[in-house]
Amino acid sequence: MLSANHKDSKGKILLKADGLERKFGGLTAVANFSFELCDGEILGLIGPNGAGKSTTFNLISGFIPPTSGKLSFLGQDISGKNATYISRMGLVRTFQHDSLLSDMSVADNIIIATTHRLKSTAARQEKMRETAKQTGLEDYLDVTAGSLPHGLQRMLSIAIALAAEPKVLCLDEPLTGLQGVEVGAALDLFEMIRSELGITILLVEHNMRAVMRICDRILVLNHGRLLAAGTPEEVSQNELVIEAYLGHKK
Ligand code: ADP
Ligand code: MG
Repeated sequence: MLSANHKDSKGKILLKADGLERKFGGLTAVANFSFELCDGEILGLIGPNGAGKSTTFNLISGFIPPTSGKLSFLGQDISGKNATYISRMGLVRTFQHDSLLSDMSVADNIIIATTHRLKSTAARQEKMRETAKQTGLEDYLDVTAGSLPHGLQRMLSIAIALAAEPKVLCLDEPLTGLQGVEVGAALDLFEMIRSELGITILLVEHNMRAVMRICDRILVLNHGRLLAAGTPEEVSQNELVIEAYLGHKK
């Protein structure tokens, strides 16, 4: 049987999905999907458009409930828990399309994300500055989010997620629309988030070169089902993957 578990990992399991399933009317968007996300890894989740990647993010982050299956985070059953509950536990996600408060400043967008963990204004300010610096936004604190260039809006989405001090960060196509140099900077940021901040990353991304470079392991979804799992090398040589995905998506 195809295994999406991390056999060689020394890290403990942070997130576990067991037979995860989600139907929308007659359409099964995610079917019998089981996987483990281990402490300290960067796990890629790839697949053609409509494969069920964003639905998987919506399920694990509590934005929609599963039709069936079980989800546990930090050893606790979170199946059916809502998004606020799950993000407060430390699983925070970004969206495929940025969801910023576009009329508010960069600083205020970030500060809002600090408020449930940090109670004093000084601590919130300090966290906001630290997060803005990490994401290259320190010179844009007073700029309204909606007037930032696209690449910086993407960074702001990540800053907002980081400001909540997550244990697991789920990034949904964070590189879409970024220019070459911005892609490199974003990948460096993801490496830093994992190695220096100790945050585990689940990455959905269409940029194959980036996925292959940065991920320790990759899960491949097709029509809502797990098609393959393994290291970037294993997955990129898998015939089923080449046929289903890499063959028509460069
Ligand atoms: P991906 O992110 O891999 O491109 P999605 O998870 O967004 O794919 O979508 C998987 C399938 O589920 C698609 O066929 C999509 O149209 C469908 N789907 C996703 N969300 C909904 C929804 N809220 N209502 C109905 N169908 C949906
Ligand atoms: Mg998607």
